[in-house]
Amino acid sequence: MNIHEYQAKEVLASFGAPVAKGVAITSADEADSAIASLPGPVWVVKSQIHAGGRGKGRFKELGDDAKGGVRVSFSPEEARANVDEMLGNTLVTKQTGPAGKQVNRLYIEDGADIARELYCSVLVNRETGKVSFVASTEGGMDIETVAEETPDKIHTIDVEPSQGVTAETVQALVQAFELEGQAASQAEDLFPALYRAFTETDMSLLEINPLVVLKDGALRVLDAKVSFDDNASFRQEGLQKYRDLTEEDEKEIEASKHDLAYVALDGDIGCMVNGAGLAMATMDIIKLYGAEPANFLDVGGGASKEKVTAAFKIITADPAVKGILVNIFGGIMRCDVIAEGVVAAVKEVGLKVPLVVRLEGTKVDEGKAILNESGLDVVAADDLDDAAQKIVKAVKG
Ligand code: ADP
Ligand code: MG
Repeated sequence: MNIHEYQAKEVLASFGAPVAKGVAITSADEADSAIASLPGPVWVVKSQIHAGGRGKGRFKELGDDAKGGVRVSFSPEEARANVDEMLGNTLVTKQTGPAGKQVNRLYIEDGADIARELYCSVLVNRETGKVSFVASTEGGMDIETVAEETPDKIHTIDVEPSQGVTAETVQALVQAFELEGQAASQAEDLFPALYRAFTETDMSLLEINPLVVLKDGALRVLDAKVSFDDNASFRQEGLQKYRDLTEEDEKEIEASKHDLAYVALDGDIGCMVNGAGLAMATMDIIKLYGAEPANFLDVGGGASKEKVTAAFKIITADPAVKGILVNIFGGIMRCDVIAEGVVAAVKEVGLKVPLVVRLEGTKVDEGKAILNESGLDVVAADDLDDAAQKIVKAVKG
């Protein structure tokens, strides 16, 4: 689950991290009192969408000459004008894709007098099996660009799980960020707090870009991106209040109701597969034959007919889908259950695009018989390669 910047700051502040004062609004009526509640002389109006790169983004409706999705304003009137211009419009950033995202919420924040912008993230380091801090003095920039152009400016500092953030960890971070004076002493509280926030709320990513050193020498969290690990949501019920369904893909919301592992993608071939590995391989082979998958979908091991039906409906609800590939290797999953689910779903929603089915494994003959007797226009495939070629041909001609 991803959350907004202002919510991430609320979580971090509750662990003691320094953040600016700010107010989130969803309508222009709330703007004047929000602006008046902040001291000035600088107000920053920040678009709240689940995507980064807002500052450099552009509003679709306003053209390329208008300012971006994070606006520094030097009077209450200017802040108000920015609110009126931004709210409700569609922000396109490097991370939103060309369609952009509608800005339904703004965060009006006290302006910071910035001396230096740093990059700080906390993540699960799969190479070392530990939680790591990633630290760079090159904040405010795309960290991917820094990694490519000046990889020596990125420092990865592991945290020993049995010890947490020690004095040595803090020292390594202070050096990596080149902190001194007040910022260096604040670091002794900040980095342990970030680590506690990360582990105690089951985050999978915490990215602070930028973490800033203010002109007065203090540290402040200026931007924050947080993702929580959904596998731990059962023990983090208090965080559910941060979920913003308007930011999520409708198909993914529906899939989560049925406990399906589904990720919407940009291509035109819908995929229904069992097993994450086979699903990945299916997506790869679709690409190999020159097309793009419309989704990742793993129906899981012991999926019921209802679950398969739901999965098929989610795939067909995507208007971008020009063809569907069902690829099942029945081990625990039974081919006849898949076939029944597909037939039930098609009876309910119809089938307007080509459907290629490759079934193998448990109850494969029963599965094929169900499809054959259904009267559906199904193209049978022998193996993964054959299936991918057939669906790509059906879609691309
Ligand atoms: P994004 O990463 O989505 O572009 P940020 O929150 O990082 O959004 O804002 C982009 C830039 O805007 C920051 O790098 C910083 O220079 C400036 N900025 C953001 N918030 C403030 C603030 N409260 N005061 C002053 N400058 C800010
Ligand atoms: Mg940022």
